[in-house]
Amino acid sequence: MKPRGRHFFANPGPTNIPDSVMQAVAHATVDFNGPDFMAVYEGCVAGLKRVLRTEQEVFMYTGSGHAAWEATLTNLLSHGDRILVIETGHFSDSWGKMAADLGIVVDTLPADWRKGVDYAALRAALLADTSHALKAIGAVHNETSTGMTLDLARIRALLDETGHPALLMADTISSLGSLDFRMDEWGVDAAVGGSQKGLMLPVGFSFTGVSAKAMRAHHGSTLPKHYFSWTTMLGRKHRSFIGTVPIALFYGLQESLRLIEEEGLGNVLARHHRLAEATRRCVRHWAGNNGPQLYGLEPNRLSDSVTSILMPDGHDAEALRKRVATMNVALGAGLGRLNGKVFRIGHLGDLNEPMLLGTLAATEIGLRLEGVPHTPGGVDAAMGYLADTAG
Ligand code: PLP
Repeated sequence: MKPRGRHFFANPGPTNIPDSVMQAVAHATVDFNGPDFMAVYEGCVAGLKRVLRTEQEVFMYTGSGHAAWEATLTNLLSHGDRILVIETGHFSDSWGKMAADLGIVVDTLPADWRKGVDYAALRAALLADTSHALKAIGAVHNETSTGMTLDLARIRALLDETGHPALLMADTISSLGSLDFRMDEWGVDAAVGGSQKGLMLPVGFSFTGVSAKAMRAHHGSTLPKHYFSWTTMLGRKHRSFIGTVPIALFYGLQESLRLIEEEGLGNVLARHHRLAEATRRCVRHWAGNNGPQLYGLEPNRLSDSVTSILMPDGHDAEALRKRVATMNVALGAGLGRLNGKVFRIGHLGDLNEPMLLGTLAATEIGLRLEGVPHTPGGVDAAMGYLADTAG
């Protein structure tokens, strides 16, 4: 039987869509070249740039984050170009595999998924590349599979300090609008984002913020491109998108940008931090008595948009997820090699304390019902923190 009551969606993306955004998306079709829509479109592009914290170009595609990954690679690089992908988890692996399939030579800077990259090893790799064969660095800002972040400002500083000219390509798909991200200040050359996470929209479009340096690289790039060609996009009225623009999503974006700006980007980030910290306190409490524990081992690299939780040996994360689903709560699965071992709680986008606490409580009930060892009372720990930090 279908469970009653509101569905609690605690996946780290897609994320919950605010009611007002859903209503905005239900807009009647209009001429996407007409003046009314152009005004909405241009306002959205300006707003998106404010969230990206850039004054440079943004190109958009009808397609999920993978489209923006591919567009970014094919617009910046040529066959046989070498790039360095910093290993963070499932998504860095996937982006690297995509690049290899496109004819790019991919070096991977290996890292323990639970600890994250050793920045000294990155520095050494940049210094070792004396001929500057590496054309770009691929960095997943927020690795949604592990719940760990990369310090993009530090990566930029290492590129500058070593005098390495590689482009900095950052995947901000699960960080934009939930973690601090500053494209221009951090010298990010290509910032890849998508609609369905911090922007609180349905899945459907993705984009790349592009620096002036990256635009110069684009003009020399020879990988085949057509639907994703930035040069073609620049000649279009919308200076983006090839083909029909996803009109409804722009009415939604207009509303989600309004919500973000009404709350204030700084407050949005602070809300994410507080809900993430409550989640971590809950999990640290469960971890006693050989219970589930935080997957990430480096406290200062833990993500404020998603928490990955490692099950105790011999206990199946998928069984727990299924049990919790009977209470109408959707937890995120472990991805790739983490499947069955890890479950994830997404705490990004349109979320408040009771929504998070409902998810944590259902998960704690699930632990009990599935016979997973843990210290009961994790939800109390989360509540205590939320009470102590209430505004
Ligand atoms: N990169 C990251 C960090 C992601 O979290 C995801 C999806 O969850 C992707 C890339 C792929 O995006 P999409 O599923 O929208 O194609």
